[in-house]
Amino acid sequence: MAESRRVIVIGSGPAGLTSAIYTARANLAPLLIEGLDAGGQLMITTAVENFPGFSDGVMGPDLMAAMRTQAERFGTTIVQGRVTRVDLGRRPFTVEAEGAEYEADTLIVATGASARLLGLPSERRLMGRGVSTCATCDGFFYRNRPIAVVGGGDSAVEEAIFLTKFASRVTLIHRRDTLRASKIMRDKAAANPKIDFRWNTVVEEVKDVEKGTVTGVVLRDTVTGERSELPLDGVFVAIGHTPNTSLFAGQLDLDANGYIVTHERTRTSVPGVFACGDVQDPIYRQAITAAGSGCMAALDAERFLED
Ligand code: NAP
Repeated sequence: MAESRRVIVIGSGPAGLTSAIYTARANLAPLLIEGLDAGGQLMITTAVENFPGFSDGVMGPDLMAAMRTQAERFGTTIVQGRVTRVDLGRRPFTVEAEGAEYEADTLIVATGASARLLGLPSERRLMGRGVSTCATCDGFFYRNRPIAVVGGGDSAVEEAIFLTKFASRVTLIHRRDTLRASKIMRDKAAANPKIDFRWNTVVEEVKDVEKGTVTGVVLRDTVTGERSELPLDGVFVAIGHTPNTSLFAGQLDLDANGYIVTHERTRTSVPGVFACGDVQDPIYRQAITAAGSGCMAALDAERFLED
């Protein structure tokens, strides 16, 4: 027999855990299925200095552990593992995870988005130790230090411009000779004296894994094949995000980039299914905005159940 719940939350980042805290406090005894990357993107961040309430900053994993404890304290059941299938075509909704089947009257989708990475072993090893995917979060640590941004879209250019507030120099490394970013952003970057461009260039390695911190990158010119080294203190990878929505394709309305479309706040195209956090937000992507939308989804689900 499938276990039945009034609310099931999928995802355990700030959005999912906040929606669990709120629905648990509304006596809805939510079940939260964590997903493979339990805790979400903050688990690969070191110090979080922009989450209100922590005047001295907080480590990303510590913040997520505290949110998890808070969700459990009010009666959230947390299931480890990954959701493998959802059926939103009939009610109650069905959710399959790790061989078990669950039924839910309402579903809160908080599966997040994953920053795309270059796929280099050294990039993974130095993540949070000089490699970052979030300029807003980590830019502050690079006051008067040289850094690079990898990518050529609006995100990369926006991050490069933002990072000039802190860094001594920002090198924008792009694999082609033209930016994908919009003209206004391209013009702004070109006019910024702190930004250098490395065109037709890919990062082959981030140094120095042995030292456990970023000291530079090995670059390859894609036209000449020439290799060079650029000394740096930080590398921001800004080559886009992928929303984690493959489970919902064909069942929920998604936009052209795969993000869940929400309307009337957190409602999706299926009544009773709510979405919050990065899975429906390609713009703000902050822990605090994700947490805020998790609260909204919980209140929306509660109202839906009352109606
Ligand atoms: P994006 O537009 O998909 O751009 C990704 C960039 O990364 C591209 O330049 C791409 O190169 C490069 N790239 C992808 N994979 C790579 C790899 N493996 N190695 C090296 N480079 C790689 O992503 P985005 O910049 O995150 O933007 C996503 C959406 O949000 C866009 O619609 C964008 O307009 C929007 N956005 C808007 C704003 C704003 O208006 N203020 C700010 C941020 C984002 P190629 O160009 O060669 O493909």
